[in-house]
Amino acid sequence: MSHSLRGKSWFMLVGSIMFCLGPVVVALVIPQELSLVKSVKVEHFRDIEHVCIKLADLCGRLTLWIGSAISYIALYALFEMRPDAFPKEYEPWRSTGTEMPELPEVETVRRGLAPVMEGVRIVRAEVNRPDLRWPFPDRMAERLTGGGVERLRRRSKYILADLDTGETLLIHLGMSGRMVVSGEPLGQLVHDRPAKDKHNHVVLTMAGCRARITFNDPRRFGAMDLMPTALADKHKLLAGLGPEPLGNAFNEAYLVRAFKGKNTSVKSALLDQRIVAGLGNIYVCEVLFHAGISPLRKAGYIADARVSALVPVIRQVLTAAIAAGGSSLRDFRQADGALGYFQHSFDVYGREGAPCRRSGCSGIVARVVQSGRSSFYCRNCQR
Ligand SMILES: [Zn+2]
Repeated sequence: MSHSLRGKSWFMLVGSIMFCLGPVVVALVIPQELSLVKSVKVEHFRDIEHVCIKLADLCGRLTLWIGSAISYIALYALFEMRPDAFPKEYEPWRSTGTEMPELPEVETVRRGLAPVMEGVRIVRAEVNRPDLRWPFPDRMAERLTGGGVERLRRRSKYILADLDTGETLLIHLGMSGRMVVSGEPLGQLVHDRPAKDKHNHVVLTMAGCRARITFNDPRRFGAMDLMPTALADKHKLLAGLGPEPLGNAFNEAYLVRAFKGKNTSVKSALLDQRIVAGLGNIYVCEVLFHAGISPLRKAGYIADARVSALVPVIRQVLTAAIAAGGSSLRDFRQADGALGYFQHSFDVYGREGAPCRRSGCSGIVARVVQSGRSSFYCRNCQR
């Protein structure tokens, strides 16, 4: 994941330098050349020739710069639209190589944390930096210390720890955030104290079992916040969220209503957190594959019966993924005690060029980019 970002950053850096240097070079060159042209006294034919050569040289430089800038943009656009036309070495350019943890991963982390956090008091909170994506709340360590965790719940992709102090701790894993459980042996979930790591931003030590819960986030896109439990639903990250896909408020009639008149693609509609909370790129691809709907289809133009059929598919796909996450917790393959990033095989996501898994379908999985995100689908059976 980080490799693909490095590749892209490098590409963007070269592009930016070119864009910035081009006008600078031109600005430096033009006055020089113009003064040269002006200074020429046209007495002989040779002098006119000299002026022409100078002007041609100037035009040449300008054309070269504009031309390379256009080629750069064209190449980049082509890559975003038709990545399959490029050889494998261009893979690091991809802007879509990083996926955020989605609902099943976050639910897996919540389930992994529940046994060491629920009903247990936080005896020590270390906050090692002032911020992640946003600044931490005031006196966060002080406000967490001594708080007993009454309940660990999840809303969309956020973990919420309700404390007996009347406050709720919100945890968002961002892109690279991990919760690592370590400390004294307690069942199979707890490992030895992890090595000192500069990305261990928050460490909570729990009472009794003395388990340590470490929030590690190299890219710092994660977030933590504290708010009064009574006002949790009104938090800026939670207030606009649609219903939970596994809850009762999310049903056939609701989704049909939500899709009515929508001119956006069904992919964008399902990614819209105001319509349904917690779905991300990976599981939307999977859901649309199982529902046999093309991600390119406009949400408002899909027959009500097919929209209704999406609801049980969404539930099944998420439930299966949560079950896979649960088994990864039991197997506990991650040696460092990190929770949530389980090995899970997808039916369509990331399978570009591979044969379609629907029985009886001879299609090949294709990849298209929609709003900067990869959509994987089978043109043959997803309509
Ligand atoms: Zn197919």
